[in-house]
Amino acid sequence: MRMANLSGRLALIVDGRAVDVEEASDGAFAPDPQVVYDRWEEFRTWATTADLPAGTPFEARDLGSPAPAPRQTLAIGLNYGDHAAESGFAAPEGLPPVFTKFVTSISGPVTEVKLPANGHTDWEVELVAVIGRRAEGVSEADSWGHVAGLTVGQDISERVQQLAGPAPQFSLGKSFPGFAPIGPWLVTPDEFDDPDDLELRCAINGEEVQKGRTRDLIHSVPALIARLSAVLPLLPGDVIFTGTPAGVGLGRDPQRFLAPGDELVSAVQGIGELRQTFVA
Ligand code: ZN
Repeated sequence: MRMANLSGRLALIVDGRAVDVEEASDGAFAPDPQVVYDRWEEFRTWATTADLPAGTPFEARDLGSPAPAPRQTLAIGLNYGDHAAESGFAAPEGLPPVFTKFVTSISGPVTEVKLPANGHTDWEVELVAVIGRRAEGVSEADSWGHVAGLTVGQDISERVQQLAGPAPQFSLGKSFPGFAPIGPWLVTPDEFDDPDDLELRCAINGEEVQKGRTRDLIHSVPALIARLSAVLPLLPGDVIFTGTPAGVGLGRDPQRFLAPGDELVSAVQGIGELRQTFVA
């Protein structure tokens, strides 16, 4: 099942067309894409058994984040060995670094992003998991049952702010407006042959800069949910950015950062792509 946020309204994507959920369910489900996670099992059952009407065509630029206002966003640093190495760190033995991307940074999949002045703005393609059932102290074996679905995220990062001392400012440096595009839609885990092994990649102006597979995550999606939910409850609709593979601008020699006019395309196999253009 593919669930989307089309112009702020909850929709299902069927054969590439959008079905408005409030209309198709005769009002049984509200149009707000965020509140559906509180009734995720019921929604999923309805969506997979309902006799849906033919959908309507839509433009990708009218999509919003499938989780536009999560109560919590948890983002994971240094979760691929090759990215930890290019960042100059050993792969963490216990929990990896965890930060947030504040909710005002979240956007839909096709956007124009303003580059902060005097910054070094970098790219990080990531698999994003959205929670569908409250998770508190769950085991790794039970974790997938708490995931509503997977989507694509860009953890856009302004490195000057992020790394300014005395302690790093990960959350602020990664939370400028538009720095958390998510989409194009949410895909339920059953849609994948193996949800623990998906290719992710991103390109700038057509030149590939990152390519990895989620099987190389140091902490897999289920491991992250088990370890994070041992510390705090994960709530329906919460968003987890799972980390980025090698190939970010900071780790290059010479370093490279996004410039006005650049187009960044980020994709995860079996889900879809994000498209950001950058302006001064
Ligand atoms: Zn990241």
